[in-house]
Amino acid sequence: MLFRQFYDNVSSTYTYLIASGPGREAVLIDPVKEQAAQYLIAIEQLRLRLVKAIDTHTHADHITALGDLHEQIGCMTIMGEYTQADCVSYRVSDGEILDTDGIKLQALYTPGHTNESFSFLLKPDAPKAVFSGDVLLIRGSGRTDFQNGDPGKSWDSITQTLFALPDDTILYPAHDYKGWTASSIGEERRFSPRLAGKTREQYIEIMNNLNLPSPKMMDVAVPANLACGLDATNNKQG
Ligand code: FE
Repeated sequence: MLFRQFYDNVSSTYTYLIASGPGREAVLIDPVKEQAAQYLIAIEQLRLRLVKAIDTHTHADHITALGDLHEQIGCMTIMGEYTQADCVSYRVSDGEILDTDGIKLQALYTPGHTNESFSFLLKPDAPKAVFSGDVLLIRGSGRTDFQNGDPGKSWDSITQTLFALPDDTILYPAHDYKGWTASSIGEERRFSPRLAGKTREQYIEIMNNLNLPSPKMMDVAVPANLACGLDATNNKQG
C-alpha cells in the first residue's frame, strides 16, 4: 500500500493519500484548498490517478480542496449522507464500503464534533487504521460547541464506535496541534485525558467548559465548504 500524510501548517490539518501502489487509483481524505497543487504534484510523481476526494465533515478552520480537485482532475467528491454540502458528487451511508482499486474504506457515522461527521476505517475486515476527522484527536477530541456539535454524541461515537475497533488500529485524525502524527485506538482508550477513566457525564462537563475561541476562518470556511471550497463569496451572502 502507498500511504502519505500531508500537513497544512496554517490550520494544523492532516490530509491522507492512500493507494494500493504506483500506477493505481488513489483517495485523498480531508484535502486543504491551499495545498491542492502539492497533492497533485505528489500524485503525478507517484503515478497515481486520484479518483476520490473525501471530507470527513464540513470543516470550520480551513477551506476544502474537494471542489478544486474535482474541477481539475474530475475526481469524485464524497462526504457523509448528512452533509449540507449539495456540491459533493456522492454521499456515503453508515457502514458503506468504498473500494478504490482494492483499498477498502468503510464509512462510520461518528457525530459529535458536528452532526454530519464520518470516520473512515481502512481494511474493515482486519482493521488497519481509522481516519477519525475531528471526533477523536490524539489525546483529545474535536470541540462540540458549534455546527450542531453534541458532547454526548461525541462520547457515544468515540466509546461505542471507535473504541470498539481493535486496540492496534492506527488513529489518523484530521488535526494535531502539538506535532503528534498518529496514535492508536488502544492508546487513546488508555491515555486520552478527556476519556480514559471518565464517565459520559464527566466528558460532557469537560466539553461544555472548554471555552475555546471561534476558529478564525469559521465565517468564511463553513459557507465556502458547503460549496466544496469553490464559491466562498457568493455563499457568504446567501
Ligand atoms: Fe472540524
